[in-house]
Amino acid sequence: MSVKYSIIIPVYNESEVIRETYNRLLTVMNQTKQSYELIFVNDGSTDTTAAIIREFIAKDKNVKLIDLSRNFGHQIAISAGMDSASGDAIVIIDADLQDPPEVILQMIEKWKEGYEVVYGKRIKRKGESFFKNITAKLYYRLLKQMTSVDIPVDTGDFRLIDKKVREVFLTLTEKNRYVRGLISWAGFKQTAVEYVRDERFAGTTKYPLKKMIKFALDGITSFSNKPLKLAIYTGMALSALSFIYLLVVVIQKLFTYTTIIGWASIIAVNLFFNGIILMFLGIIGEYIGRIYEEAKNRPLYVIREKIGFDNEGDENGKY
Ligand code: UDP
Ligand code: MG
Repeated sequence: MSVKYSIIIPVYNESEVIRETYNRLLTVMNQTKQSYELIFVNDGSTDTTAAIIREFIAKDKNVKLIDLSRNFGHQIAISAGMDSASGDAIVIIDADLQDPPEVILQMIEKWKEGYEVVYGKRIKRKGESFFKNITAKLYYRLLKQMTSVDIPVDTGDFRLIDKKVREVFLTLTEKNRYVRGLISWAGFKQTAVEYVRDERFAGTTKYPLKKMIKFALDGITSFSNKPLKLAIYTGMALSALSFIYLLVVVIQKLFTYTTIIGWASIIAVNLFFNGIILMFLGIIGEYIGRIYEEAKNRPLYVIREKIGFDNEGDENGKY
């Protein structure tokens, strides 16, 4: 049976690692003895990343490039790759070799057994800060608690999906994209391949804290409206407590002679309630912002150039 694999590699300023990544992917994919395409999605790199990919293309017909017009973000870069992937199975992998390309072979085995989604499960993370490890662990568990979609814990976007899953993925047109959640939402027969997440081969992380926080919020707000419900429950609980306290105050006033000396407590209660109100306004704002993004309905990304594809039309994110 002859099949074709598509490998999607989002890259953002990865000139220090990309040659090594290409070589390792080449070795791995040649072992499959099947046809394949390596789709590099250049997410607005400002270094020589795109030029290096052009060098690969000059020598290797399996390499393709989608050059985005600016930095759109990792999740959108993956989506751009997905739009143009024509394989029977599609693999998403980071460019920095934290996801070992060799694991792709195990994923392919599972796919041949009939699984339609094979995700990489990190059993260990090497060379990442204690802070990142612990926040990642906590976050994935919180996310699981909050959503009704079963997003497996400790998995990233490193995964293989069948082309059937890709077709469903293409119909999910939301703008704030949380790729792993969308794939989980699609369902299908899923399994895991365990792997040790390596250190970055070279260069530095392209996910500074600010991007991580946005990413974490996207995960929760895309797949859960529990934060909104939290406002109702907190509001109800606090109202109940306030009512009890109100009774206490009235009874005190009517039946005792305690003079009220309440400045500190009034301020404290005030600050507390204002804090809660602002927090929930923020949460509501977060959801409204997402509705706003959807309403504008701009294309998800803009392509400067596509190289190596049969159809090189520059259709932009058709979302
Ligand atoms: N990336 C991207 N656009 C961005 C940020 C990152 O395409 O705006 C790519 C990056 O080149 C890498 C992958 O996404 O291939 C994961 O990024 P990184 O390794 O920096 O994240 P980390 O592993 O530190 O979470
Ligand atoms: Mg990385």
